[in-house]
Amino acid sequence: MLEIQNLCVEVNQKKIIRDLTLSLRQGEIHVVMGPNGVGKSTLSQVLAGHPAYRVTEGKILFKGKDLTTMSPEERSFGGLFVSFQHPMEIAGISNLQFLQAIYNAKRKKLNLPKMGEKEFLPILKEKMTLVGMKEEFIKRNMNEGFSGGEKKRNEVLQMALLDPMFCVLDELDSGLDIDALKTLAHAVNFLKRADMTYLLITHYSRILNYIKPDFVHVMMGGKIVKTGDLSLADELEKRGYDWLI
Ligand code: ADP
Ligand code: MG
Repeated sequence: MLEIQNLCVEVNQKKIIRDLTLSLRQGEIHVVMGPNGVGKSTLSQVLAGHPAYRVTEGKILFKGKDLTTMSPEERSFGGLFVSFQHPMEIAGISNLQFLQAIYNAKRKKLNLPKMGEKEFLPILKEKMTLVGMKEEFIKRNMNEGFSGGEKKRNEVLQMALLDPMFCVLDELDSGLDIDALKTLAHAVNFLKRADMTYLLITHYSRILNYIKPDFVHVMMGGKIVKTGDLSLADELEKRGYDWLI
């Protein structure tokens, strides 16, 4: 599904990802863990297609195609979904307008007719129930004044509406209380079809109490330095990251 080979990335002339290699097959759940500032979010930005993050070496193949030559919307139409660690606030655009627009953009790509508000609202409300979001958030401006946890729910709501194949979830667990974490982890598990691939990014293992990964990778100094199973996450919880330097 996703093949990253010897990837190097820089932002503002600063090298952040160095020689990162990672391979994710269809159906698998991978977790990338690592201390602050090692380049985890940089990886998610590169996958999303953020223009400030420049691939200087290496390859990213998504379903066999060169991801780096695809625009962010082509990536999304191709089934890639990236939830951000710090979701954007967009003043003047209601959540409903935004969510209906992304839903209809996907429908247009599938040659389906545009869906009006009346038809869209029941679909939206069903997904909002899944992520534990109250109806008042439909009319609020996109992420404006949302708490950290509310922003994360809104990210998973977008994921539920877009029906992606490959999901990158960057620190879904940060800023969430235990109940919100349980709800969102349940939603993420519920949305996981057998043919979908997940890449979770986190620096705490607590989300792994709810979402069970097939592989755990440790990222340090801009590359993957160790790969294991869930027991590696337990070991990191006990010993921290320093022993891997
Ligand atoms: P992580 O998600 O692992 O905590 P990040 O990928 O966010 O780490 O950041 C890795 C490093 O890259 C940090 O030192 C950060 O300050 C730097 N960095 C990320 N984005 C930018 C940017 N736009 N400009 C300058 N430095 C950046
Ligand atoms: Mg980060």
